[in-house]
Amino acid sequence: MGTTVEIHLYASTRERAAALFEAAFQEIERVEQALSTYRPTSEMSRINANAARGPVVTDPEVLTLLDEALDYSLRTDGAFDITVGALVNAWGFFRGHGRYPTADELSRALARVGWRNVILDRAARTVQFRKPGIALDLGGIGKGFALDRAALILRRHGVTAALLGAGQSSYFAIGAPPDTDGWRVVVPDPDDPRRSLSTVWLRDRSLSTSGNAQKSFEFDGKRYSHIIDPRTGEPVTGMTQVTVIARTALESDALATALFVLGADRATAVLDHVDDVAALLVTTRGTVDRVVAIAWGGSVGSSLK
Ligand code: FAD
Repeated sequence: MGTTVEIHLYASTRERAAALFEAAFQEIERVEQALSTYRPTSEMSRINANAARGPVVTDPEVLTLLDEALDYSLRTDGAFDITVGALVNAWGFFRGHGRYPTADELSRALARVGWRNVILDRAARTVQFRKPGIALDLGGIGKGFALDRAALILRRHGVTAALLGAGQSSYFAIGAPPDTDGWRVVVPDPDDPRRSLSTVWLRDRSLSTSGNAQKSFEFDGKRYSHIIDPRTGEPVTGMTQVTVIARTALESDALATALFVLGADRATAVLDHVDDVAALLVTTRGTVDRVVAIAWGGSVGSSLK
């Protein structure tokens, strides 16, 4: 997934741990093979290539995932949108690091975006696009979904203490290490990732961070994020980092991306409708950072400018 996945777990023997690692990584590989738009043979690439021509039958797992993704679009007024692919391409973030598109490129891309263009038929298990040019991009939730699936496999094998992480941006914690309250996870300070903004003890919860650190570019003195507002077609500016704690990594991934688009003022309204959720947002105006904590249990460091 263009990232590093790490798994820490407790098991009775070294051999048992090795077998558990193998099972979890195989599951992550299986999910990547299904969802990656970087692989022409994936189920997602097959859907993208064919769903504008008519209904494409897919497997129950992919259908459920798409259903959940569209539900996040509904709940976030379209701020989270897996049809954002054309815009991600136009802004140069697919296989690249960003560029400024022409007005024509932008309006053509915008015309190919919109979650309401995706029609799911649950009974027939099909996906269909209302018009050509729609492309599904699971970049915002794929890692989280993979961690949820791998955690399920570990739980089925009887694991009661494990931490799964992808790219230091998505985590899922099963239980806690012996004699502790949870797995220690550090939310980095966006101004200096070696420093911590907050430290949390995660237990049977997920934590996802969306930020500008990995992919963004500067144009005319402004920083453009790889997270794009699907409603305007513009990359988000003014938001630096959003961390969400939730019950599943799919949920924390989706909400972190959505809140990044919606901003601190709209975040509370969205989170009011979600159980067991917390968020930490860093907004930036000029060189001044502002930290907004919503139901955030962990301490927030003072290392920000
Ligand atoms: P976040 O910061 O949470 O979200 C940003 C990503 O979500 C964007 O990059 C975009 O893809 C998408 N997005 C942007 N705006 C929105 C929005 N408004 N709503 C919803 N989604 C939005 N990268 C490679 O370089 N090579 C690979 O082989 C590769 N394979 C991958 C396979 C899979 C299955 C997945 C899920 C990703 C893969 N990636 C690959 C992509 C890469 O790892 C992405 O950079 C990553 O998914 C973005 O993660 P993030 O935590 O930074 O996302």
